[in-house]
Amino acid sequence: MIKPAKGMQAGRAFALLASIFVLAFGTAVVQLALDQQRVIEANDRLQQQTVPEIIRYQQLSRNIEKLRQEGERIFAVSSPAPRQQSMFVVTLIASHPSILDHPGAAQLARETELFLGDVVRRSVSDERRPLGRYEEWQGLARRLSAQVDEVANQGINLATVDLNVASTAMKLARYKLMIVLLLVGLFLLAFMVLVRRHLIYPLQRIEKALSTLSADRPAPEFRASVMLEIQAVEESIREHHALLIQNDDARQVLENLANKDGLTGLTNRRHFMESAEVELQRAQRYRRPVTVAMADLDFFKKLNDTYGHAAGDAVLRAFSGLVQDALRQSDLVCRYGGEEFAFLFPEISPADTEKLADRLRVRCAEMEVGLPDGRKVKATVSMGLADASECPIEIALKRADEALYEAKRLGRNRVVISGGPTATNDAGNASGPA
Ligand code: GH3
Ligand code: MG
Ligand code: MG
Repeated sequence: MIKPAKGMQAGRAFALLASIFVLAFGTAVVQLALDQQRVIEANDRLQQQTVPEIIRYQQLSRNIEKLRQEGERIFAVSSPAPRQQSMFVVTLIASHPSILDHPGAAQLARETELFLGDVVRRSVSDERRPLGRYEEWQGLARRLSAQVDEVANQGINLATVDLNVASTAMKLARYKLMIVLLLVGLFLLAFMVLVRRHLIYPLQRIEKALSTLSADRPAPEFRASVMLEIQAVEESIREHHALLIQNDDARQVLENLANKDGLTGLTNRRHFMESAEVELQRAQRYRRPVTVAMADLDFFKKLNDTYGHAAGDAVLRAFSGLVQDALRQSDLVCRYGGEEFAFLFPEISPADTEKLADRLRVRCAEMEVGLPDGRKVKATVSMGLADASECPIEIALKRADEALYEAKRLGRNRVVISGGPTATNDAGNASGPA
């Protein structure tokens, strides 16, 4: 069962990240658009308002300059007629709308008009230059020149203000664009790191765990993930692994039931025949020596009768333990039936096997099996060996059985090789259970 775990769904986590990104990116784009708007507005203002205003200021400054030049002319000429003409121009300029619209210029023009009008009136019949008030005029002329400069500066300032607004907005937009690009880069980096850490790496670990998942290996260890989906998959893999182990245990139990003898734990006859067949084919293909043997406990019926069936079982188990202990890893043995056992010894001829079989016989004869009531039972075994390197397993076992029969006939507790001259026995004829 999947435990409820702490963490968050990958879909939600990435949707949240994407929302934050869209929000931040959207805000930055709006800011950029506002700056762009400011630049456009400053440009429009420059074209529609400031430029005509500058032209007006230029006209104004030209008119004031003209006013000063005409005043200069009134003092420069010596006949009244040109003075009258200049005075006419002065009156015209002083009442020009461009002058009247500018309070400072209008005041100065009015002052100039009055002063020059007075000068012209007083010298209306004078054929000389009216130099009596020239110093006074020079002061007024300086003020007119200063006004020309001021008006020209005002025009330039107007343009400067608009240009400053546009350039500040453009600079700001540039910085903001850089910040936005930096943010996008950082976000993409963070996104990549998160995707790698929380999706790609866990998926790689899962893929590795799945490819090596086996009942022989320990359960895969996963680093705690924050993503619920990853946690669920990892939990399923752990459960799957536990199931694999259960199945493997069950398979092992079934295999034992099918292949092992219940009383002794040795291989059963059917499984032995299958394994022996394979081993024999291998030995015969490579022309390797191989020997089979049959063993039968002596006077077992009598042992059962004397000590009871449970004691007989105990002796069968003890003998099986002794056999497993004495044999090599490559040797095969099974409980062939009742108190009979079959063997297959690869890579060894019957003559060499005899020593091994005899050691087993001796150890069996020396074995004492303790019973629950304190009594001790002893047993002996007879064995028949046969060469299996050139015949089918059934024939070889039949020959071994015949040799076993011969061992029984010769008095039991001995080893006989099929077709061989000798029978090994150093303890004399067996006489039954002691
Ligand atoms: P021999 O020396 O000629 O082999 O004499 P034997 O008495 O051993 O031979 P026999 O074949 O007459 O008797 C075998 C006995 O083994 C008969 C049976 O009661 C006993 N036996 C067979 N299987 C088992 C078993 O699983 N447990 C026990 N306790 N006895 C068994
Ligand atoms: Mg028997
Ligand atoms: Mg027997």
